[in-house]
Order: sequence, then C-alpha cells, then structure tokens
Amino acid sequence: MAISRSARFWHGQNDEDLATYLRDFRAGGYPVEHVRRLACALCGNATFLALVDDEQGAAAADCLECGARTLVADSAEHIDDAELEGCACPCGGETFTASVGYAMTQDDEVRWISLGLRCLSDGTLGVYTDWKIDYTPTEHLFSSN
Ligand SMILES: [Zn+2]
Ligand SMILES: [Zn+2]
Repeated sequence: MAISRSARFWHGQNDEDLATYLRDFRAGGYPVEHVRRLACALCGNATFLALVDDEQGAAAADCLECGARTLVADSAEHIDDAELEGCACPCGGETFTASVGYAMTQDDEVRWISLGLRCLSDGTLGVYTDWKIDYTPTEHLFSSN
C-alpha cells in the first residue's frame, strides 16, 4: 500500500490512495460504498481550490485550469446560505485533487457525503467536510458532479 501512516498525517500518491482513505475514514460512521473522483465539468481538469462550509454541509471546487466552479453533490441547494472557506493543508498548500465518498442505505440511497482532498504539494490526505443526506431519491447526487 502506498499510503504512509507513519507520519502524523496520512499521505497518498494518487487518487486510489485518496479513495482508500475516504473508505477508511467512514464519515458519519457509515461504510463508504462509492468513491468518485471530481473532474471539472467544463474542461475535465482534476485539480482544484476547494471551499467548504462545514456547518451547512456544502462544498465547491474551483478548477485550477479554467476557473469553473463544481458544486459537490447537492451543494447547489445550500450554496446561497453557505459561508465557504478555502481549504488548506497542514503544509499550507491550497491546491488539491478531490474525491467524493458516498455512504449508502440498505435501499441504495445516499446516506452520507464526504469530501476527500489530496494536497498537490505534499500528498497529505484529508476529509475536509461531510454531511448527511436525509431525503430520497438521491440518484441525482451521482450525476450532479
Ligand atoms: Zn476546468
Ligand atoms: Zn500539503
């Protein structure tokens, strides 16, 4: 395994490591069944500035190539009330690759969303926000990012 746990923070070399980390983190205490790598809907680039509101449960990722903003999962519904703050790695890095973890109910609806980021500077992995999904159906959450 490429993930190093010897350091104070988890480090990963690629998005597979980030997916492993998201599954291990189990946001909300639930097993993460699906992990999807975030890519810019406009240009396909996969490096971002990330912004989150941990209270509202909303997250946005601004593409480093074209500047387009990707709203994570159902964040569009909360973004008007959200106070987004930029994410920063403990190393000070503010650019990331991003993946979204989905915990599912037994009925295969989304129960919990978590946003994992991998720092482009030093590879530190982190879950920067997570939130509960308390409605159905949730299928659109997979197509919206
Ligand atoms: Zn882009
Ligand atoms: Zn870093």
